[in-house]
Parts: sequence; structure tokens; C-alpha cells
Amino acid sequence: MRTRREFLGGVAALGALGLPGCASLAAGGEGGRLPGRGEVVIRNAYVMTMDTKLGDLPVADVHVRDGAIVAVGPNLGASGARSIDGREMIVLPGLVETHWHMWNTLLRSMSGDQREHGYFPTALALGKAYLPSDMYQGTRLATAEALNGGITFVHDWCHDIRSPQYAEENLRALRESGIRARFSYGAAQGHPADQTIDLADLERLHRDWAAHSGGGLLSLGLAWRGVSTGATGSVSAAAYRQDFDAARRLGIPISVHANNRKGSDAIALLAREKFLGRDVQVIHATWVSPEEIRALADNGSPVSLSPYTELRIGFGFPPTGDFLAAGIPVGLSVDTTALSGNADMFAIMKAIQNIENARALSEFKLPARRVLELATIEGARSMGVGDLVGSLAPGKRADLIMVDTRGVNLAVWSDPAHLLVEAAQPANVDTVMVDGRILKRDGRLTAIDTAQVASESRAALAALRKRAGWR
Ligand SMILES: [Zn+2]
Repeated sequence: MRTRREFLGGVAALGALGLPGCASLAAGGEGGRLPGRGEVVIRNAYVMTMDTKLGDLPVADVHVRDGAIVAVGPNLGASGARSIDGREMIVLPGLVETHWHMWNTLLRSMSGDQREHGYFPTALALGKAYLPSDMYQGTRLATAEALNGGITFVHDWCHDIRSPQYAEENLRALRESGIRARFSYGAAQGHPADQTIDLADLERLHRDWAAHSGGGLLSLGLAWRGVSTGATGSVSAAAYRQDFDAARRLGIPISVHANNRKGSDAIALLAREKFLGRDVQVIHATWVSPEEIRALADNGSPVSLSPYTELRIGFGFPPTGDFLAAGIPVGLSVDTTALSGNADMFAIMKAIQNIENARALSEFKLPARRVLELATIEGARSMGVGDLVGSLAPGKRADLIMVDTRGVNLAVWSDPAHLLVEAAQPANVDTVMVDGRILKRDGRLTAIDTAQVASESRAALAALRKRAGWR
């Protein structure tokens, strides 16, 4: 925890680097808060490209210009580029997150110990009392945590859109942060099970997307309720079909929770009704039959696994190895900090590896390098952005992180993939770049005042609890 004074000191130092100072932070106005893209070269780092051809480069440079990677390799000529010292650093693609209800990050660690205070009743009761400004506060807190921990892409699964303004405030928080994201438009908490989502509003957003996309960093999707049972009962077939058909008509990707309880056969139903496809991401699937795995693979549906919420809420163990063996694209996710507490992708990687090895009774089942792929290039492919980000290669957008290996939880140099999956923490993330913009440098966020985010989030939650009459 840093003081306000230290934060301002950090901002002043950034000003010397041509990054935005406090005046522009305070002045507000979208875009004005974000640093420019410029031209930089990271020198002499251990570079893990996660590109099959380029591999790992033990002492190499990464040259970035106007948001794109120009070159990766040793001793690059990059005169005119600002130089960043990469010694003692591991440079790798930014971490890719694939399903997160960012709005309810205000409800961090609020899933209680009694049934009436469990995750679903808590999200329902408080979600109903949300104001549009709470969408902004929750999502902004989530983006700050994401960027701080090296996450450069998020899939914001937004399921508390109570009016068009709720979606707009949520999107504003994403845009202001500079993060890359898919925003998936969903129902409100408590939305009637026999009604479609606000399809006219979804179509309006789609039509006007250029004004919402933050210069192309954000894309639009559908957070589909699907055929599973929610707090207000099973969604009627007429409603879920209309929602699905609208997304397909607009050509936007779809995402759905399925098979998180023993005995569920939702994926079998999705397959029967022709609801699967490369554009349909399936979340959790902790209880899945061999036939359902085959259906996911045959249709090209990617899967998103969120080990900490799956463990915490009792959905069971993610069968990661079964999906990988079937060739199903797998991405890793936070889901909700109301259950997971935090959004630590390093811990998520470690959990995925450890659970799979425990299931297989083998130290060697899921290698660290493979897990790192899930958190970078394969996660990006599962979200349909693998050609854009997820690895470091010339021509790709510059989404990357630098992990400082000098912390006491790292310090010794062993296998870099193992270090990242087993030992690294968000605190070790020194630098974060999204689309060529440096959003974290020297361990500090450059465009987000974390003290302000914390105090405003606290105030928003206090007011929300009061309005909802929540203990
Ligand atoms: Zn979820």
C-alpha cells in the first residue's frame, strides 16, 4: 500500500519520461488520461516470445512503434527509440483473461458463509441496487487490478445491464483504462427468465460501436444466459433462442456458462440444438461427459476455466487435461472476485497446473510452459484475437509485460516458465504495455490513480450496501 505522496512522486517521475502527469489525470476527459504510444526499445531482457518459431531469446530486445511490434531479437538497431533497460527482466506477452464479471469487483470477497449470503443471492440482491456509477466503479477497480497484475486483455462478461446507461458506464471504465477487452453484453441481475435481453440496445451499441471501442481496443460480444438455470429460473427457450439468433445476425461472438454442477447435461443440449461453434465460448464445464467433450471439439467451441471460483463455490475441479487432449482451445479466467478474492493470473496458472497434476497423480502431467501458453497465445486464440496479440512477433500489437526477477520470491534464476507459473506474483510486474501504451512502469500504474480508485470504490460499496439494506 502506497501513500498519496508516493503516488504523486511516481507520477512526477513519469512526467519526465513524457507520460501523463497529475494535471492530465485530474483534468479527466477520455483518452487524455492515457499515455501516448511513441517508440520504445526494451534492451537486453530474457524474452519469451510464446511464438513457436522465435521461441525464447535469452538476451534480446523488443522494438515497439505506434502500438505495433517492429522487431524482436538481439542487438536491434532502433535509433530514435526511447530505451528501457530489460536486464534482470523477463519480457513476455501480456496475460490474457477470458471471463470476468468486472462490474461486481465492488463485491470483492462478499460471498458469505451462509446459503442466503452465497455468491448468487449476494450478486442478485446487490446487483439490483446498482447505479450506473457503480458499474463504472466496479469495472474501473477491476481494470486497475488487471493491469497491475500483468493482464492486458480481459473478457468483461457484463450481466447487470439494467438500462443502456449501465453498459455505457461500464464501457467508459474500460476505455479510460487503456486495456484491451471484449465487452459481452448480458441481462440484468434478476432479469425475467421469459424475456430476451434488451436486443434493441445491443443492436444500437453494435451500430455505434466505433464510438465505444476506444479506437478499436474493445470489441462487442453476447453474454448469453443459455440453457442453464439462473436465480430467476431457467431461461425460456423462446428467449434464449432470440438472444442467440440476434448475436449470430450481428456477427458477434457468444459466451455461455454450462455444466458447472454434477449431473448437468447443458452442453449436450447446446450440441443438439446447434448452439456450439468457434464463436461460442463455454465457461466452467467442470462436469462434462466424453460425448460433450467430443461435441465441443467437433464444433470448435473454446472453453474458459476459472479455477479459483470453481474451487471456492464447489463447482469441482476443472478437467483441463481432458479439454487439451481433445484439442479444445482453453483460456484461463478470473470469473468474479466476489468468490476468488483477487485477480492474480499467476496464481490462476499455478492452480490450473496443480489441479491437473493432482487429478492425474503425476508430477509431469501439465508442464509450466503449456500453462503459460494458456495464459497467453492460446487464451488469445480462444478469444479470437490470436492473430493480434498473445505472442511477441513483428507485426503484432504491442501487448507485453516485464517481470522483475529481483524480488525475494524470485531472485534465483532457474527455469523461466516454472518461475512465472509457480513463483511470480502481481507485485513482480514491473512494466505493462497495451497497444504500445505503457500503463505500468517501475511497478506503478501510469494512468490510474490507485488511491482515488480505492477511496471511490469503498464509498460506492458503502452506499450500495445501505441502499440494498445488505447487512
Ligand atoms: Zn462467470
